[in-house]
Amino acid sequence: MITIIYDDIYKYHAPKRYHVENPTRIDYSLSAFADIKVKIEKPVKVSDPQIVHSEEYVKLVEKFSNMEEDLDADTYVNRYTYETALYALGGALRAFEVNGFALVRPPGHHAGTYGRAFGAPTLGFCIFNNVAYPIKKFGLKRVAIIDFDVHYGNGTQEIFYEDPEVLHIDIHQDPRTIYPGTGYPDMVGRGEAEGTKVNLLIPPLGGDDLYEELLPIIQSILDDFKPTILAYSAGFDAYKGDGLASTNITEYSFYNLGRISNSFVRKYAVLEGGYGDGLRKGLKAFLEGFSGIDKEYKVYRSNDSVKSRFMNYLGEEKNILRKYWSI
Ligand SMILES: [Zn+2]
Repeated sequence: MITIIYDDIYKYHAPKRYHVENPTRIDYSLSAFADIKVKIEKPVKVSDPQIVHSEEYVKLVEKFSNMEEDLDADTYVNRYTYETALYALGGALRAFEVNGFALVRPPGHHAGTYGRAFGAPTLGFCIFNNVAYPIKKFGLKRVAIIDFDVHYGNGTQEIFYEDPEVLHIDIHQDPRTIYPGTGYPDMVGRGEAEGTKVNLLIPPLGGDDLYEELLPIIQSILDDFKPTILAYSAGFDAYKGDGLASTNITEYSFYNLGRISNSFVRKYAVLEGGYGDGLRKGLKAFLEGFSGIDKEYKVYRSNDSVKSRFMNYLGEEKNILRKYWSI
């Protein structure tokens, strides 16, 4: 049995004209629960988003939401956005409290302390950083965040860039080929936190055989860091044919990513991206793994040139990681 944090309020944040990040994503996601035992719990609204973000940014979101003025070319708001985003933070908080999955919108991992992070051109559909909220709220120590959304979680990484208590492992499509254009393996954190930020790249058309290589490396880093809490920024847009990206990840990888959490007493996950089949199939496989259900999924293989490109990336990544971790 897995607890899902959800309320229809998450559908209120909606675009004026067609946008890929829209309330029907919730309906796709709910269909993923058809064969899994879930308990749905409602979130509470939080009143302190400035725990994660600057006062100025919070005020900007509130003002633009009231005016129904889009934050940027990618990131729309309507009059419910500010309120809904406060409930999304509350969803992450409740997920942390009950080891559950927060089925929230709007997403959060591109939102940094001051809004746009690491020079990103836009907020990439995100308003407040949901996965960061419980960590900041309670000053959690020894936390690992695994962000497997196909885009780099630049907001999350920026928020914790100098925090040695937060290990952030972000697996994403090669930033030369996709938004937000940063997230290279040499971004390792600063000061005391150096080494605790890990960026692993997947080339376009990459499949599960690449995750087969990455999963043991992720596990070794976790074994070294010994986190007491595992958090996920769970995006499903890396799924084959999901729509926004060009990777070919399938159930195998999402299931095994979820499996990592089985050795943790404290864990939570929040929804990030995912726009089509990823939300139906990838999310279902992730939740099966997350809740420890035994399943076998086939590995979808990349072609040889994609695999060799990936192995080149991995060689460089390992050279960097070896300075900090026994991989
Ligand atoms: Zn994404």
